[in-house]
Amino acid sequence: MPSPRNHPIFFFHILTRCNLSCAHCYINPDQHGHQTLSIGTICRWLDLFSQNALQTNLIFLGGEPTLHKDLPPAVKHARKLNYLSITIDTNGFLFHNILDRITPDDVDFISFSLDGATSSTNDAIRGKGSYDAVLSGIHQARQKGFACSMIFTVSDKNLHELLNMPDLVASLDIQRFFIQVIGMRGNSAADSTDTHQVSRELWLSVIPKVAETIAQTGITVTYPKVFLEPGEVFTCAGIVADNYFVFPNGRVYRCPLCEDYPLHAYTIEDNTLVPSPPVNETHLFDLTIPEGCVMNKIIQPGNLDYLPDGTPAHRIACCMLKQEISRTV
Ligand code: SF4
Ligand code: SF4
Repeated sequence: MPSPRNHPIFFFHILTRCNLSCAHCYINPDQHGHQTLSIGTICRWLDLFSQNALQTNLIFLGGEPTLHKDLPPAVKHARKLNYLSITIDTNGFLFHNILDRITPDDVDFISFSLDGATSSTNDAIRGKGSYDAVLSGIHQARQKGFACSMIFTVSDKNLHELLNMPDLVASLDIQRFFIQVIGMRGNSAADSTDTHQVSRELWLSVIPKVAETIAQTGITVTYPKVFLEPGEVFTCAGIVADNYFVFPNGRVYRCPLCEDYPLHAYTIEDNTLVPSPPVNETHLFDLTIPEGCVMNKIIQPGNLDYLPDGTPAHRIACCMLKQEISRTV
């Protein structure tokens, strides 16, 4: 069974600024800072988390990370530190001629976010011009020899178009496809009456089939488990994994669902990881509840159902528990 114990991931947000304002953006500058890290600080923080670099997948994020003019030297410094893999997550606009300032040897993947198979659906969620930017960005990146992946965040606004994604991604020559589930964080948390989350029935009837269809074309597909089957073991990544979500104001979280709150496990002070005083997220990870993930119950209880006797109809998996399908063609 897939496990949240797999290789640690270092999610490094080097700025929170972005040229877009996506409807479901999880970035919350009030909690994550407004600053753009200097290249000196970026390199020092890459050093700080490099003790287990050989086993750690590093992802550069923002905001939009290519808005940082010093992303290329940051990437090259990370490569020298031997991180297991290096990915740049982008909205497709590829600022500062990033593709001319790094080489395919510097990064393992450039990952493009697209939330619809058509420009009308995608741009309604992510902003005008973002669909064309992603398709053009992938084309340019592939021409220069970069390996590309794609992230599709599922909500009730675009689930119907996920069915059309296999044809689109097959035409783009990408290597990996990630399906995410919309979470109640950042912008999405603003209106709790309209969460845009999809039901368990819809999720289970659509996602695994689409994932398998795309995987049959030779693209590796990853998607979150979300709902545990009866008898499946619940595991909290905050306990069993070494994932770090680092923000420009120095906050370091172990769980992405905590990021809207000052519950971070650590703060980086003088280039040192300083544990946060109680109560912080680490005190939640040990709590055992019949619904599975504690933070899910706190911030997005709408995806829980209960039987007439009050027991949960199903448990929610850790959001870091992913299914991965890889097929040889
Ligand atoms: S591109 Fe990313 S960082 Fe920018 S608004 Fe959209 S989700 Fe947020
Ligand atoms: S999502 Fe839930 S289970 Fe996963 S790390 Fe956070 S609190 Fe733990």
